[in-house]
Amino acid sequence: MRAQPVSIVGAGLAGPLLALLLARRGFTVTVYERRRDPRAGTVEAGRSINLALAARGIRALEHAGIMDRVRPLMILMRGRMVHELGAPPALLPYGQRPHEVIYSVGRGALNRLLIEEAARQPRVTFHFERSWAGLRGMPAAQRGTHPELQGAPAAPVIAADGAGSAVRASLVERGLIRAREDPLDHDYKELPIPPASMPTVAARHALEPEALHVWPRRGFMLIALPNTDGSFTATLFLPREGLRSFASLQTERDVQDFFTTEFPDAVPLIPDLPRQFREHPQGRLGTVHAAPWHSGGGVLLLGDAAHAIVPFHGQGMNAAFEDCIALDALLDRHESWESLFAAFEAERRPNAEAIAEMAIENYGEMRERVLDPQFLRQKSWALELERRFPDRFIPRYSMVMFHPEISYTEALRRGAVQQQILDALDERAATAAAKMETLDLELARRLILAQL
Ligand SMILES: Cc1cc2nc3c(=O)[nH]c(=O)nc-3n(C[C@H](O)[C@H](O)[C@H](O)COP(=O)(O)OP(=O)(O)OC[C@H]3O[C@@H](n4cnc5c(N)ncnc54)[C@H](O)[C@@H]3O)c2cc1C
Repeated sequence: MRAQPVSIVGAGLAGPLLALLLARRGFTVTVYERRRDPRAGTVEAGRSINLALAARGIRALEHAGIMDRVRPLMILMRGRMVHELGAPPALLPYGQRPHEVIYSVGRGALNRLLIEEAARQPRVTFHFERSWAGLRGMPAAQRGTHPELQGAPAAPVIAADGAGSAVRASLVERGLIRAREDPLDHDYKELPIPPASMPTVAARHALEPEALHVWPRRGFMLIALPNTDGSFTATLFLPREGLRSFASLQTERDVQDFFTTEFPDAVPLIPDLPRQFREHPQGRLGTVHAAPWHSGGGVLLLGDAAHAIVPFHGQGMNAAFEDCIALDALLDRHESWESLFAAFEAERRPNAEAIAEMAIENYGEMRERVLDPQFLRQKSWALELERRFPDRFIPRYSMVMFHPEISYTEALRRGAVQQQILDALDERAATAAAKMETLDLELARRLILAQL
């Protein structure tokens, strides 16, 4: 296999990491990216300015040996700071051990670093401003005349060209795979919160810096993630159509009134809000289901190209990085691209489906359930049960975010059992003594020992 050069389409987050890992194993890798080289300082405005990095992504970056360089780009988030209307913000910690935190990281800076690290490898070549256009199907003579298609990718091709993957589309077009995109009927828009002009580092952050801020409003929400320069990036998630929707925010007055009513404490933090709102793009979200993920040993889809998900669990990049180390590990056991690609899909597809499902569910949790007393009670019970039965009961959020050794499929499965246990405990508390705050530890012990 090493004799064959590998082509990677897409130098976003997964492409360069995979190039780095393959080069370390002795492969010659060429990466084709349609954008300009971000190392030249021309970072194009794109999706999400910052992202949540958690244990799965960190494990992959450690495996690649580049965590020391990534660390300075990271900013700690200990929990969700929930901004309810008319109440002071309250922190809901993500976990209960010091390391149970997640990090905000700038997409542009991380992307540049990954490209730099991959480009350092003698066997990796990047071609920027080079788009995939179904090159493999095109006669060589035709390629030669098309300037964009000079140096067409050689097989095997690994497509890391993101949610709107052109490689996926070309495989669908040729009837080699099937793909479905389930669009979400909520869109998003990012709005910058500049650093406050205050004397100390902590005060420079207009909001508590070590938290992911969320303004849950049931049908929609605003969130904000911190950046290393003290600024935050806020993102509004809102239905596309309807009474409270992007479609209803037509004029500057509509925007100002909407924010003043729904997010009064955020309004002073976003300068020139109506103009920013008008100028910033409205992004679409959705889930991609494709099958199969490979065409023989010629082409493999990986990362968002194979399984884009909605961003509400903060796991798309983490899952894409996990894909890279899964493929790397499988190389030890396979001697043909076809069997490698098939094994990769067999291992990763169920996991991709599990995290896709949990990501959709998490939207409901972030915009609505964090306001529900029953949810908050069960959340605190789950942490208590984890303290008492640490080998058996781990809250599902923690399994996904802090336990990369537990697969997404296992987190989904165990999470469902744990939810049944929590519901049973809730029912017992309600009917037995009408003391909803009482956690029946004896019942919990019996259920946990029997079911987990
Ligand atoms: C609003 C939002 C918030 C998010 N927040 C988080 C989060 O907090 N945590 C998290 O883990 N994930 C998050 N994600 C998901 C994350 O962005 C993706 O999962 C991740 O970027 C996937 O990496 P990738 O390399 O597969 O694709 P991408 O990073 O999208 O990279 C694809 C690359 O391919 C290039 N490309 C596209 N088409 C072509 C072509 N035809 N030819 C050549 N190159 C091409 C693109 O220019 C791009 O550089 C979020 C996503 C969104 C939209």
